[in-house]
Amino acid sequence: MTPAATATELPRGSVTEELGFPNDPNNLYLQTVNTMLDAAELINLKHRTRIILAQPKNEIMVHFPVKMDDGHHKLFKGYRIQHNNACGPYKGGFRFHDDVHLDDVKSLAFLMTMKCAVVRIPFGGGKGGVKVNPRDISHGELQRVTRRYCSAIMDQIGPDVDIPAPDVGTTAEIMAWFADTYMMSSSHQHHDALRVVTGKPVEYGGSAGRLKATGQGVADTLAEMLPGVGIDIKGMKVSLLGFGNVNGWGGQILQDMGATIVAVMDHTGAIRNDNGIDCKALYEHNMKTGGIAGFEGVDVVDEETFYRTPVDVFIPGALEQMIQEKQAAWLDCKVMAEAANAPCDPSGERKLDEKGIEVIPAILANAGGVTVSYFEWVQNKNAVTWSAEQVDRELNRHMVVAAQRTMERRNQLKCSLREAAFASALDHIGDVYRVRGIFP
Ligand code: NAD
Repeated sequence: MTPAATATELPRGSVTEELGFPNDPNNLYLQTVNTMLDAAELINLKHRTRIILAQPKNEIMVHFPVKMDDGHHKLFKGYRIQHNNACGPYKGGFRFHDDVHLDDVKSLAFLMTMKCAVVRIPFGGGKGGVKVNPRDISHGELQRVTRRYCSAIMDQIGPDVDIPAPDVGTTAEIMAWFADTYMMSSSHQHHDALRVVTGKPVEYGGSAGRLKATGQGVADTLAEMLPGVGIDIKGMKVSLLGFGNVNGWGGQILQDMGATIVAVMDHTGAIRNDNGIDCKALYEHNMKTGGIAGFEGVDVVDEETFYRTPVDVFIPGALEQMIQEKQAAWLDCKVMAEAANAPCDPSGERKLDEKGIEVIPAILANAGGVTVSYFEWVQNKNAVTWSAEQVDRELNRHMVVAAQRTMERRNQLKCSLREAAFASALDHIGDVYRVRGIFP
């Protein structure tokens, strides 16, 4: 793998200087751009494509008032970043979280462009968010925030322009409110407008298999890549950071494939059982109580013990930047599969590299979610319904081909899997810009 320390000597500096980026090594956006520039250098990507990708096409920032239950009005801040649409409409989730910031949303939008290109689905990258903790407001307030956010960005999105989806803190129900608001607006009262958002409830245009799609994609990727590093899914030990939509489903699927989940941590605490944690029972407990705390038949452990648990595969599926140098130093695993986006900060990445831990990057590992979102959009567009089996089969085909392409690129370029996945995405985006040219 290429150590991050030497990467600073690569010509990425010329692009970041040209665009006037701050030289802040801890800035998540710069970290994402630098990864792209390192991969661009490996494949000799054209300068014009590098500078186009280094900045999002549109940065939309909105403020909107919402009437709260007690009658007063509160002002909310929202974002929609449209990073790139060379390969198709902007695509990416929006999150409700009280720690939503412009640079983070920009990075996540950037990663969506790369992710869609890795799996070769005809979408670009976008991301949105509202600075709000959904746990702090009532169900009615949540609905009004969603509807006002939708109306605030409505003119800049659309079923063939920019298609949001769920992310941290947003659910299928929120997608239904979002679609309804969009369709009720004067100029979009036709049913096809349902395609403006994916991750909807199955009753209202959603796809079979969307809920588990990201976890399923992580499992499909691992099944394809682990034999190459001598790990058999049957009998392998796994630890999970986060047990929400992605890892809650991913844990159950890996368990069904024969893996043993030995440690789990979420915002309510950490648990360990070296003989295995029953992920199906844990999922039900989590749905009932909102966290893993209080689950029986396991040891409650501290953060350090969780990270030090010896496993074959560690799967971070919580928030960004949680794996810093300290956590990376604690980890005792052979492979890390990034279910969350950008789970490591630069110091964490360097430490993992030093320790020789193989990292399967998020733009590949968690691409299952957006891939099934694409299937949902295709089904809505054609007014058809796919069976769960068809969704699983098509998802598996996309994930396997993307994993094989990444491994092939890694062997050719002699680089890390992260650089290889970015290189594979850039191969595709570079080809698109080459054939379509740059307007005018
Ligand atoms: P979620 O909200 O369902 O779950 C998040 C999990 O993180 C929860 O278990 C929560 O307890 C845990 N968590 C939060 N703060 C924590 C802390 N300080 N310490 C430990 N755990 C903590 O979110 P999700 O949909 O599962 O998404 C998880 C990650 O995967 C995010 O980075 C998201 O962007 C990414 N992702 C999600 C999808 C998707 O389809 N949902 C697709 C691609 C990527």
